[in-house]
Amino acid sequence: MKIVLFGPPGSGKGTYASRIAPIYKIPHISTGDIFRGHLAQKTELGKKIEDVMKSGNLVPDDLTMDVVKDRLSQADCKNGFILDGFPRTIPQAEMFDKMEKVDVIVNLVVPDEIIIKRLSSRLSCKECKTIFNTLTLKPKIEGKCDKCGGELFLRDDDKPEQIKNRLEVYRRQTMPLVDYYRKKGISYDVTCDRIDIPPEEIVAKILKVLESLK
Ligand code: ADP
Ligand code: ZN
Repeated sequence: MKIVLFGPPGSGKGTYASRIAPIYKIPHISTGDIFRGHLAQKTELGKKIEDVMKSGNLVPDDLTMDVVKDRLSQADCKNGFILDGFPRTIPQAEMFDKMEKVDVIVNLVVPDEIIIKRLSSRLSCKECKTIFNTLTLKPKIEGKCDKCGGELFLRDDDKPEQIKNRLEVYRRQTMPLVDYYRKKGISYDVTCDRIDIPPEEIVAKILKVLESLK
C-alpha cells in the first residue's frame, strides 16, 4: 500500500507512521528525517538546506524531489511505503503524481493549540529519531531514549518563533494540498482534538481507514 500521512507540524505524523510501517511491512519515509540526516552528516545538500530548515521554511522543491526519487527507487519500497512530510507543496504533489499512484492520504486534523503545546514539549532521540513528549509521551528516564538510551534533544525548529513560522508555512504552502487530494477522492480525515489521546488510539483510527480500503 502506498500511503501519505498528511497533517500540520506536530500533528504526530512521525509517531504514527513509525508505528504503522511495521504492521504493513513497508518503510516509513520522512523527508524531515532524511534532511536532518544530511545536516548531521554535513553533506553538500546538508550545507545548502541548513538555514531554511533552522528557520522552519521549506527546502526547495527540486532538492526535495531529488531526495524522494532517490529514496523511492530503493528496493524496500517495491511493496509500498508510508510517506511523512511529503508532498508539502502543490508542485511537489504534481511531480509526485507523475511518479507514483498513491492509494490513500490520511489527513490528520489537529487544532492549533494542541500543535503548539506538542511541539514545544517534543523531544527527539539523537540516535534512533524516536519521538518523545514531556507532556504526553514521557521517556522512562529523563533525557534518555527508552529504545536505545540515546540523548534526547529539542529540535532547532521546535522553538517558539520557528514553530509560529512553520504553522504559517503550513497554512500557506501545504494546506492547499488537502483540497488537491480531496478532489481526487483519496483523502480521509482522522481527527485528534485532545492532547491526551494516547497515540495507540489515533493509530487504531488510521488502521481502520486503511483496512476499509483493502
Ligand atoms: P514537521 O512536520 O514537524 O514540521 P518535518 O520533520 O516533517 O517536521 O520537517 C522538518 C523540516 O524539514 C521542514 O520544516 C522543512 O524545512 C523540511 N522539509 C521536510 N519535508 C519537506 C518537504 N517535503 N518539502 C520541503 N521541505 C521539507
Ligand atoms: Zn533512541
